[in-house]
Amino acid sequence: MSNENKSIHEFDFDLICEYFSSIERQGPGSPEATIKALSYIDNLSEKSHIADIGCGTGGQTMVLAKNTQATITGIDLFPRFVDLFNTNATKLNFQDRVKGVVGSMDNLHFKDEELDLIWSEGAIYNIGYKRGLTEWKRFLKKGGYIAVTEASWFTEKRPEEINSFWQDAYAEIDTIPVKISQMQKAGYIPVASFILPENCWTGNFYIPQIKAQEIFLKKYKDNRTAQELVASQRLESKLYSKYKEYYGYVFYIGKKL
Ligand code: SAH
Repeated sequence: MSNENKSIHEFDFDLICEYFSSIERQGPGSPEATIKALSYIDNLSEKSHIADIGCGTGGQTMVLAKNTQATITGIDLFPRFVDLFNTNATKLNFQDRVKGVVGSMDNLHFKDEELDLIWSEGAIYNIGYKRGLTEWKRFLKKGGYIAVTEASWFTEKRPEEINSFWQDAYAEIDTIPVKISQMQKAGYIPVASFILPENCWTGNFYIPQIKAQEIFLKKYKDNRTAQELVASQRLESKLYSKYKEYYGYVFYIGKKL
């Protein structure tokens, strides 16, 4: 296939999408963690509407579909992920109530108070936790829920190497009490929060990438973007195993007042 007509930018996005499409999840998580978060949410029925924002290829969405009767709309910026999402939904026979749509989380087209539940695993950082909680609230019914995972510090202080890595990657990372307080200030009752177990990062995210990285580097051996992408994922994984006592993903579940 020729890429001559594509801008470098588009080609980079395609490569990144191809890389992450080859693994089941595009961020840390697990079916057990999704089910645990779901256990804090009541009043869901076949009439409920859930939005999964930044759904990727739908790893967690299919878990939501298996464990509820609700209609689910997955939203993701990347068409390739959304295509895979819809293929997965069809394979599992959820196509009548689970649909992936291309869209951006900073410009959602739901009606005010249309949603019973907003879900977002490993994705809200794209617009920022505080902004996401605040802007998405209008789409939730009164008494509706939000459940998101967000990178958080476990301690007040941490080594400089990991601190500066995160300041560059996502300066909005903060401690768990701060994140809970931000949820409260955004107009939700903080219902629950829990730290995602280590396996959500290792077994479910970094380990599947090892094989994917080999295949990817073989296919794109002279491509700088591909090499840089793999190097950055390897660095992330190395830092995680070195500093995992200091940070991780936390599920935050809130109820709209
Ligand atoms: N929830 C999935 C994917 C997490 S990775 C999982 O846990 O496996 C983050 C996702 O956010 C990616 O799929 C990426 O394409 C999507 N994303 C990034 N910016 C976005 C935006 N502005 N609007 C919607 N989705 C976005």
